[in-house]
Amino acid sequence: MIETKLKALLTQIRQAEQTYHRAPSSVQLLAVSKTKTVEEIARVYYAGQRHFGENYCQEAIQKQSALGAYDITWHFIGPIQSNKTKLIAQHFSWVHSVDSLKIAQRLSAQRPAQLPPLNICLQVNISGEASKSGIRLAELPELCAQVRELPHLVLRGVMAVPESEDDFEKQRHPFKILSDAVKALHDPSLDTYSYGMSGDLTAAIAEGSTIVRIGTALFGARDYS
Ligand SMILES: *Cc1c(COP(=O)(O)O)cnc(C)c1O
Repeated sequence: MIETKLKALLTQIRQAEQTYHRAPSSVQLLAVSKTKTVEEIARVYYAGQRHFGENYCQEAIQKQSALGAYDITWHFIGPIQSNKTKLIAQHFSWVHSVDSLKIAQRLSAQRPAQLPPLNICLQVNISGEASKSGIRLAELPELCAQVRELPHLVLRGVMAVPESEDDFEKQRHPFKILSDAVKALHDPSLDTYSYGMSGDLTAAIAEGSTIVRIGTALFGARDYS
């Protein structure tokens, strides 16, 4: 049951906060609903969940219109193509996957004036694999400074999707590197660390995550067929 899984996940998050000396409720659950149906989202919503993350713009917008009466905060967490920035700026409250100044500038320019500024995380590629999106850590200070100047965005923090690892200490390592780099910027407005997925959420919480992005452990495995 999806309700049972939600409860178990929240218990796991609260326990990890305690174990790793994090403030109670300092870690928020983002339910990653890509490929999942409107009915599945509604069940998680009725169990109390309000923040949902989607990776594909078109798919997300269809679900949003079906769920228009629900008080959901939508987060975009997928790769961003330039030709999708307008729809993303119109339909989401958060974007976790910004990895260039050009994309940030487009999101700011296209954010509708009647909406509050768009919350932004910069995606950082910590594991250094060529295939994954995200900026290099060395680029973070300059891109932070540039994004901070854009009028219709609020820079909130960083997002990371490290290489998958089974070993707990190996899982912690990239999160620690990124958290240390953000803290070295000494900017209290950077309050968001979007790390941790179904397989590494405890390691992410140990290293400062404030938003864990969970799909499989909540909704079950995804079927892309
Ligand atoms: C799909 C996805 C998730 C959720 O992953 P699970 O392993 O299913 O929890 C989290 N973050 C991003 C960026 C994703 O694309």
